[in-house]
Amino acid sequence: MSLVYLDNNATTMVAPEVLEAMLPYFKGEYGNPSSIYDLAHGANLAVKKSREIIADFLGAKDPKEIIFTSCGSESANTAIKGVLDVNRNKKHIITTRVEHPCVLNLYKDLEKRGYQVSWIDVDSKGDLDIGSLLEAITPDTVLVSVMMANNETGTIYPVDKISEAVKMQNPDTKVFVDGVQAAGKIPINLKETKIDLFGISGHKFHAPKGVGALYVKSGTMISPLIVGGHQERGKRAGTENVPYIVGMATAAKLAAENLKDELTRVKSLRDKLENGILSNIKNAVLNSRGSVRVPNTTNIGFQYIEGELILLHLNDEGICASSGSACTSGSLEPSHVLRAQGVPFTSLHGSIRFSLSRYTTEEDIDYTIEKLPAIIKKLAKISPFQKELNEIFK
Ligand code: PLP
Repeated sequence: MSLVYLDNNATTMVAPEVLEAMLPYFKGEYGNPSSIYDLAHGANLAVKKSREIIADFLGAKDPKEIIFTSCGSESANTAIKGVLDVNRNKKHIITTRVEHPCVLNLYKDLEKRGYQVSWIDVDSKGDLDIGSLLEAITPDTVLVSVMMANNETGTIYPVDKISEAVKMQNPDTKVFVDGVQAAGKIPINLKETKIDLFGISGHKFHAPKGVGALYVKSGTMISPLIVGGHQERGKRAGTENVPYIVGMATAAKLAAENLKDELTRVKSLRDKLENGILSNIKNAVLNSRGSVRVPNTTNIGFQYIEGELILLHLNDEGICASSGSACTSGSLEPSHVLRAQGVPFTSLHGSIRFSLSRYTTEEDIDYTIEKLPAIIKKLAKISPFQKELNEIFK
């Protein structure tokens, strides 16, 4: 049985070219980029070049605006805590109800510590109530955090327009965008926006786990999360993880080259999967229908069926997908994103996210469309909601 990997929003396969590019920095080129002898020169140059590539990938004006981190969560924590620390007199912050836990749980913690948080709602499509967000801004608002693409549903938020509107209301308010699920899937051009801080994570676009980056617009003051040496221009201490930084830069280059493929081929495979499921399985409903979404993601609810059981049966057929985000699966808590959208309980517990990548093939999609109806049929037989399911399937 071959593996069908449809969980690319959780993590991605390391691209072979990425691994190849990393290997020299585990072998001969092991110098510390801060050292002055010749051995360190290669490592230093590699970090410099990688910074330029990531700056280009994100459309930053200047490579100095990029700092390397260990992951998307660190990028978010650095941005949010870093901004708050240099603006201690202001206590109002804004975010959405559908952020990844690395923002959501940090905001909950800040709320407990005395910050006043405005939580912005989404509608049933997953679209953000931008009017409420703008109305919430006061002279005391220090930070607004909005993700660019949702990890569970793929819904895209117009962060460029939001950042402009925020600055019109209060030019001193900083805007952090969690771009982890957008990087490599849709175009990003930060120099054309008013976004101050933007986080990404390598393992979501075919680099290894354990490396990320944070864009900090020139002139934006943050204090470092990790204090120590002078690496990353004093914004993030710790010897640079040279092989992983090189890996992420290589992955970014490949992602940029493949962006058109993502927007066309990957999208058409996603649409084929979505249509194949919705037309063959009567209790399937599309979550976030009608919202603008990244091309690789679909989230489908199977009414009156337990999502974890669907995942186990898919696994038996060699298909990897997920319910909720990787961080919340296992908790049996229904997704906070789908709850915020008002998805009814009938499909809340049976919602599955399928996320594709440039390595997904048409055969993967055909195989999934072929296997899923029998799984749902089998699980429908053991569901406690027989009357409701009989009504749907009649
Ligand atoms: N933000 C979003 C939208 C994500 O999907 C994730 C990971 O799933 C993260 C942040 C956290 O990234 P990392 O796992 O690199 O910490």
